[in-house]
Amino acid sequence: MPKRGPEGPRCFMGRSFSPPSPLHFFGLPLPCRIAQAPTMLTNLLGSDLETLVRFCEELGEKRFRATQLFRWIHQRGVRDFSQMSDLARSLRDKLAGVAQVQALPVVSTERSSDGTVKWLFDVGDGNLIESVFIPETDRGTLCVSSQAGCAVACRFCSTGHQGFSRNLSTAEIVAQLWYAEHTLRRELGRQERVITNVVMMGMGEPLQNYAQLLPALRIMLDDHAYGLSRRRVTVSTSGVVPMMARLAADLPVALAVSLHAPEDVLRDHLVPLNRKYRIADLLSACAAYQSVAPRDFITFEYCMLDGVNDQPEHAQALVRLMRQHSVALTAKFNLIPFNPFPASGLRRSPPERIQAFAAVLMEAGLVTTIRKTRGDDIDAACGQLAGDVKDRTDVQQRITVARGAMKRDLQDGRSLRV
Ligand code: SAH
Ligand code: SF4
Repeated sequence: MPKRGPEGPRCFMGRSFSPPSPLHFFGLPLPCRIAQAPTMLTNLLGSDLETLVRFCEELGEKRFRATQLFRWIHQRGVRDFSQMSDLARSLRDKLAGVAQVQALPVVSTERSSDGTVKWLFDVGDGNLIESVFIPETDRGTLCVSSQAGCAVACRFCSTGHQGFSRNLSTAEIVAQLWYAEHTLRRELGRQERVITNVVMMGMGEPLQNYAQLLPALRIMLDDHAYGLSRRRVTVSTSGVVPMMARLAADLPVALAVSLHAPEDVLRDHLVPLNRKYRIADLLSACAAYQSVAPRDFITFEYCMLDGVNDQPEHAQALVRLMRQHSVALTAKFNLIPFNPFPASGLRRSPPERIQAFAAVLMEAGLVTTIRKTRGDDIDAACGQLAGDVKDRTDVQQRITVARGAMKRDLQDGRSLRV
């Protein structure tokens, strides 16, 4: 029976969980991670095109061979080098000895009646991460995780409550997109792209994993891979100010900023990172980001918490704040009804209060949306996955089954397991 989530809008982010490792929980020794092959093979899912070019050059191959290989992996979803028919046999043999295209074991796939799909991946050592596909008439959005857990510890976020486990590698970030894209294409019988947008709004703070994030973004944007435009890839941040400037300089994709409060005292409480980077600094960083891409909107996310940050005075303070800074004209507000989880001790704002809050912003000329409900029946929203792991026996079994399936894939050399 599919589980029934609480009513209310679905948002892409902050869901996921990382229970105490189910493997530790049972006091079992950790099995070796099958995400790593016994010999040190390079996982090519983590290589952007320039890295792949250097890799191929070290094998004595020309640049265009790297491009071919890159296309096979990302555009065609092929893992098995022997199937890459336009590569010379000698290169295919060489690659098999030094590299692999290593996907993540899938622990579960859940599908909502509205088409939303949620995958739970095993990233080893008892850590699980989640990706969610949200289809809409004119687009297909994948919500991607950047870390197992999160160190920012926002009050209203279940990932934050679990603490930080580790950064995901570039390969693990890209593996979510690779798997989702090619699984959906196969299931829908489509040749062309299914995922048109990526939002880094899953588990973790992407700008606290910048070194791994940047090559992953490059792969998403590369025309020989997923070919997503800069505006169709969104990085969401709780406000890691110095890294916003880095992102603007390196790859100014669309930016979403999780604001949640109009003043520092309240934001200190909700988003502890605010004690380090104050709202004024955050908004200056937003203005600087916009100067690189002046026609782009910055989306400000605001999680609606009953009696905490949802009063008319909060909305008015927000309007004043935006007017004080030069971001107002190209800012978009996204009000996210809180997705409750018991440990938070917080409640979702009632719909009429969210409407009233939105009205104050809109009257002041701020573009405002209220996030829609998606994937209710599979709990595809922030903080919802915690419900999936109450029965840890089940998780243990699912991880074991997923690892077995991956091992079989590796042995069979299959290009993609669906
Ligand atoms: N760490 C980044 C991206 C992941 S969280 C960030 O904080 O922006 C993505 C979004 O989900 C953030 O706006 C976050 O505030 C929101 N979020 C987290 N938990 C939530 C919850 N339980 N209900 C509603 N929104 C939530
Ligand atoms: Fe959750 Fe905050 Fe971390 Fe984003 S930054 S994942 S909201 S704890």
